[in-house]
Amino acid sequence: MHTLLIVFTDKPTDLNVKRIMEPFYENDGANPDGKWDWYQIGGRWTGLFDNYEADKDPVNSEPCWLCGATGKRIDMVVENGCNACHGTGTAVKHPSEWVRHDEDIQKAGEIKTWPEYIGKSPYIDSQGGWHDEGVLEYAQANPGLFAVVVDFHD
Ligand SMILES: [Zn+2]
Repeated sequence: MHTLLIVFTDKPTDLNVKRIMEPFYENDGANPDGKWDWYQIGGRWTGLFDNYEADKDPVNSEPCWLCGATGKRIDMVVENGCNACHGTGTAVKHPSEWVRHDEDIQKAGEIKTWPEYIGKSPYIDSQGGWHDEGVLEYAQANPGLFAVVVDFHD
């Protein structure tokens, strides 16, 4: 299952996020604190802080693989010509291939829109502790830390 996680840090580099995530790597069940077997910054939750819609951005589309970018299935008849691209010839890339969105890393105190469901999302504090609740309260108490949107799979 893919889950949204917020990582708080004063140094939001890829390398530092990796270092923060590392203690929670499942390692095929060998790690009792394991939470994830895969993650990426942004991913399915890219645009969380600014309502950016990655699936509507042309940089995240590609020629439709199902119809060969023709917009028409030749093997069967479907509504709109093609059930993957709806006849447009272009399809949205897999989220793991979406272009990195800079706004997925923001100072906690500068984030204007937290979605309601964020309250049920886990977070990692700046000391490396994993918490299953309280992300909004932590963000409010630490406005100077960067919040990083992470998509992880368990
Ligand atoms: Zn198509």
